[in-house]
Amino acid sequence: MKKIISLFVLTLSCMAASAQIAIPRDARLEAKVEKTLSHMTLDEKIGQMLELNLDIMGGYEPGGVWKLNETMLDTLISKWKVGSILNAPGTRAATVAQWQEWIGLIQKMSMKYIGIPDIYGLDHNHGVTYTQGGTLFPQPINMAASFNTELARIGAEITAYESRAANCPWVYNPVVDLSRDPRWPRVYESFGEDAIVNSKMVVAEIKGYQGDNPNHIDQFHVGTSTKHYFAYGAPWTGKDRTPAYLSPQMIREKYFEPFKAAALAGTLTIMVNSASINGMPVHASYEYMTKWLKEDLGWDGFLVTDWADINNLFQREHVAKDKKDAIRIAINAGIDMSMDPYSVDFCILLKELVNEGKVSMSRIDDAVRRILRAKYRLGLFDKPSTGGKGYEKFGCDEFAKASLKAAEESMVLLKNEGDLLPLTPHPSPLKILLTGPNANQMRCLHGGWSYTWQGSKAEDLAEKYNTIYEALCNKYGTENIILEQGVTYNENGAYYDENEPQIQKVVAASSKADVIIACIGENSYTETPGNLTDLWLSENQRNLVKELAKTGKPIVLVLNEGRPRLIADIEPLANAVVDILIPGNYGGDALANLLAGDANFSAKMPYTYPREINSLNTYDYKVSEEVGTMEGAYNYDAKVSLQWPFGYGLSYTTYEYSNLQVDRTTFTANDVLTVTVDVKNTGNCAGKEAVLLYSSDLVASIVPDNKRLRDFTKIALQPGETKTVTFLLPAKNLAFVGADGRWTLEEGDFLLRVGHLSVPTTCSQTKVWDTPNI
Ligand code: BGC
Repeated sequence: MKKIISLFVLTLSCMAASAQIAIPRDARLEAKVEKTLSHMTLDEKIGQMLELNLDIMGGYEPGGVWKLNETMLDTLISKWKVGSILNAPGTRAATVAQWQEWIGLIQKMSMKYIGIPDIYGLDHNHGVTYTQGGTLFPQPINMAASFNTELARIGAEITAYESRAANCPWVYNPVVDLSRDPRWPRVYESFGEDAIVNSKMVVAEIKGYQGDNPNHIDQFHVGTSTKHYFAYGAPWTGKDRTPAYLSPQMIREKYFEPFKAAALAGTLTIMVNSASINGMPVHASYEYMTKWLKEDLGWDGFLVTDWADINNLFQREHVAKDKKDAIRIAINAGIDMSMDPYSVDFCILLKELVNEGKVSMSRIDDAVRRILRAKYRLGLFDKPSTGGKGYEKFGCDEFAKASLKAAEESMVLLKNEGDLLPLTPHPSPLKILLTGPNANQMRCLHGGWSYTWQGSKAEDLAEKYNTIYEALCNKYGTENIILEQGVTYNENGAYYDENEPQIQKVVAASSKADVIIACIGENSYTETPGNLTDLWLSENQRNLVKELAKTGKPIVLVLNEGRPRLIADIEPLANAVVDILIPGNYGGDALANLLAGDANFSAKMPYTYPREINSLNTYDYKVSEEVGTMEGAYNYDAKVSLQWPFGYGLSYTTYEYSNLQVDRTTFTANDVLTVTVDVKNTGNCAGKEAVLLYSSDLVASIVPDNKRLRDFTKIALQPGETKTVTFLLPAKNLAFVGADGRWTLEEGDFLLRVGHLSVPTTCSQTKVWDTPNI
């Protein structure tokens, strides 16, 4: 028997215990920061705090080629001393050579006029979104479904390398918003609904992006901007960038947690949530930005606004009377850099505010110190530009393999009646009817932030990769795949527009098929263009499946979607269901490998998949939210009806859990519980299993969550093999935020749960902490 120990919870807690300082500072680096700061004028300092969009310093020439206007750039840098520039022209991927030229020039001018390098930022979110020919990985929601933090780390490391090849030192990622509302259009951009999954993934990705030493990030790694701080994924309306209303417990225990993990892991920067929490715009909150992050955690990176969000304080939120007032509020609350894409007004107005004494020089110095520190940490003063020699691996096969592996490990098998899958043998005389709008296009395999902001140009820019149709042809032989889509997206309309359906054509084609694979879901989108009016999957697509079910042929549903669209009326018609989420460049190939049995499924749902619109909930609901299911309780019929729960996923093999043990029957706050469980592969093929450790607090002074994930790990098992998994769980991780806002671990009984097993243990002494982070 092999022993697997998950040290994550222990490591995080040790970091948390040590005075909450993210990373020890480097004295020599700090001395350089101070020296640079001491020579700067007020104009130079304020310029460092502004970030502009590249689009304003160039334009399209006849022929559609975007050109940087050197005179304009010269003015912006020499006159306004702008410290940062972001984005791709027209939010469309450029070539490595173009990035070399544009960022190269920006750096040359920055060094010439200010003596301080620019920090250029791109939304390289799941790979190098804005660099042609690079590697795109599955979206973060897939990484979460893999429950494999190492895959996430490797993906981030490759993205860092390819970003630096394109001369870009800063990425706006990872995203840890907690996708707890399926209506929200950015669910797929973060690691699902759970705080621990997001925390472990963000720590792994920061290591991948930034390398081992956040004080000295080498030329193959980049700085991160963990975003969007915080509770951005909890909009009351379900629409993007709208307010969240959350209890203090939800805020501290869940939404803050992954940002805390990111800060303690040394994320270089953090981007702020565009919306508000309980009426307070985060961009205006001293408490959330300065107190919680900078003071309580000792985090010394810089805070950047999201897109034009200081303007939103007066234009949308109405907490400021005009732009100057908004700048005063945001900078005093803790914003260090304003992403004000199209204007230099910020420089004029902030200078006035300083001269009027409304923003102190010490606040300006603190912000600029943080920005300079990041630039020094990235080595930009010594080497403002990167790329060329040493970056030959850009877009190489090794990177492609990593993306394929991540895609395979991230597709969730949700149903497999009568072992319909795998579809074997291959190549074979088996005739497959492939249908649905997602069957033959790259755009939906990539999602938003893929070559363009909305991902809508993927057909041109990702042509060399295989759609599901192309991958299945490669696997089963073109002659065996009948492609008849029946429903197609209207590429000239909004992302959800569909053309007139042709369902009867598909029904007719099905007579020649042995099995039907229906690839349904969503087209690509992000942010407000992805807002929904109805969580149900489109009627056309559901009708397609309903008509095909009448043929009596076995149906495999392939869900390719960025959030859980309701399918309760068609799920019973399918024999097998696979949720591929948004798997990236190699999604088609990965699916073909899995359907054919050349790879095994090992992913689990990263969020709760609802069955009905009035049953939107997460796995960690309060016990009283499901009263109808509790033994002995009066049945209020409040049962939340799920399609698939968080953590659910099948495989071609089976696993048996046994012998769950905890080393202590009683414990106190300072103890570390050792939890062990045996996992055996009881099937006939090799597989990987994500092992999830939950806890339940049986009685608490605030209604307890029915259960909470505390840790997870993923193990590989050969047929017949057993491994003992060991989790080290600090007892204080079982604490909750009490009615008085303080972390509390109460005397009483707990259950620790893994798989269908549970083991009791008892806290023998109540402890209440006075510190905001424990
Ligand atoms: C998005 C961010 C993104 C930023 C810069 C905003 O609209 O909300 O996620 O990083 O634009 O492109």
